[in-house]
Order: sequence, then C-alpha cells, then structure tokens
Amino acid sequence: MADRDGKIWMDGQMVDWRDAKIHVLTHTLHYGCGAFEGVRAYHTANGTAIFRLEEHTDRLFNSAKILRMKIPFTKEEVNEAQKAVVRENKLESCYLRPLTWIGSQKLGVSPKGNQIHLMVAAWAWGAYLGEEGMKRGIRVKTSSYTRHHVNITMTQAKAVSNYTNSILANMEALDDGYDEALLLDSSGFVSEGAGENIFVIKNGVIYTPDLSAGALNGITRNTVFHIAKDLGLEIVQKRITRDEVYIADEAFFTGTAAEVTPIRELDRIELGSGSRGPITEKIQSAFFDIVNGRNSNYAHWLAKV
Ligand code: PMP
Repeated sequence: MADRDGKIWMDGQMVDWRDAKIHVLTHTLHYGCGAFEGVRAYHTANGTAIFRLEEHTDRLFNSAKILRMKIPFTKEEVNEAQKAVVRENKLESCYLRPLTWIGSQKLGVSPKGNQIHLMVAAWAWGAYLGEEGMKRGIRVKTSSYTRHHVNITMTQAKAVSNYTNSILANMEALDDGYDEALLLDSSGFVSEGAGENIFVIKNGVIYTPDLSAGALNGITRNTVFHIAKDLGLEIVQKRITRDEVYIADEAFFTGTAAEVTPIRELDRIELGSGSRGPITEKIQSAFFDIVNGRNSNYAHWLAKV
C-alpha cells in the first residue's frame, strides 16, 4: 500500500503518499497505544460526501481521551483534513483512515514526553466482505478467542491494540474456511465480529448485544437503529447467546467497512433460509439510500467534501 501516488495528511501537511513515514522507534509501534477511525465517503448526486463525519471525529477524540492521549488538533481541523484528503486524491467514493499515535521521542511504557501525531489517508475500497457476501450472506465462525473484557483495553476506544484480538479471530476464521469471526464476551455472550457489530432477527424483532458485551459503539449500528425506527421495526439491546443466533430467522453484520452484510451461516449451521433475509434486505437497501444521498431526511449526515 505504501507504493502509491497521492497525498496523505500528516500532522497538518499534505505529504506525498510514499513519503508518509514514521520512525521505527515510534512508541505506538512498540506498545500499541493509539486510536483510529474508519470512515467512508460516497458518491452522491450532490457530489462526494463523507458519511457521519462529525460522529466519527467525535469517536476518534473520545478514543484518544480514553487512552489519555491529547490530539494536538481541533475537531474542526480533523474534519477539514478528511475532506481535503478526499479532494486532494480526487476520490469519488472511498474509505478514510484517520489515525492518532504516540511519537518516537522516547521509549519505555510511559508515553509521557512523546509527541502525539495524527494522519488521514483515503483510498478506494469496495465491499469489505465481498460483493457476493452482500447479496448471498457470509459464513461466520464463533471464535475460540474471547472479546476484550470491558476493563482490559477499553472497548469503547477504537484502540489500535484491540485489533490484535480482531486479527487473531479473523485469521482463525479465514484459515478454517469462513468469511469472518464472531467473538463472544468473557461471560460467553455474543459480542461482535472482528470489525463489525452484529444484529439478529427473530419473529420480526431485531436484537443486538448491549455494549456491556464489549462491542464497539458502531456508528453503522446507530444508523441501523434509525432505519429500524423508520421501518417501524423494534430493536432490542440485550445479552444474546450463540444458540440464539443459530435459531435466528436472519442475521447481519454492520460496520463502516462492512456496511450491512448479511450472515447466512454460523458454525456451519444455516440461519433461517440460509441466504439474505427479507428484513436484512430492507435495512441494507435503506442504508444504501441514506449513504448515497437518496434519502433527504438524512442529508445532514452527509458532509460534502
Ligand atoms: N466493532 C469493531 C471491532 C469494529 O472495528 C468496527 C468498525 N469500526 C465496528 C464494530 C463497527 O463500527 P462502525 O459502524 O462505527 O464502523
């Protein structure tokens, strides 16, 4: 990925993509304390727009706060940086990756005395779990790895270090021939995917784990709450067991990268009809209308670049 044309915003400057480098003694590289965001921009009839930009920037600042890092830019500057990166790289639709990390002034577990950095990159990225998965649904495996307990690395921070857990779970699932992992919390209840929140549907009601199961407070998750309300569907946040997923009528993952991806199988057990369910399809379609600017009720969620 490093060998590309384009620009990356780094600490207030537009830097050539190939020159956007850090030192090997960067604190975050050694100890894993940093935070990032995943954001998408869509090509709408009114031009390219970033979806729920302010919410993503708020979460980035909250993640940094939880990790005791002080981002040396304002939220407005970070919002502007994201718009500028999309414009500068002439991207019509893309994924954006803001990242804040601790510098290389000194090592040792205490980060005190180090500079806090921020960068924003953007590139074209299609369906995260595959175009076919979007239509047919994906195959998921319950992970042998447990999701972080809420009092370990802090689950409401989109912390760099939390993703070792995601990587292990995802690699295990892929090595076993599945598309993605489902992680359980330390009490054995359903938490979330390696990079997605999960929803299950039973008898017309939508269920999703409450955040005490250690799942990230996903912005797409919140978008689905709005969509369900518009569609007159009830959403219940509660503890969910893996066998409740086995006997669900439908299930889907949500995430900025994954968008709304149906789940057709968990642990080789077919869910419902074994393909994308009708309620999932309605939610997916409403989601794409909103992000692509086809639902004027949500125009305020689209920040023109
Ligand atoms: N959980 C995890 C672990 C994630 O990495 C993501 C992706 N950011 C999500 C949930 C979904 O969050 P969002 O909808 O805000 O992208």
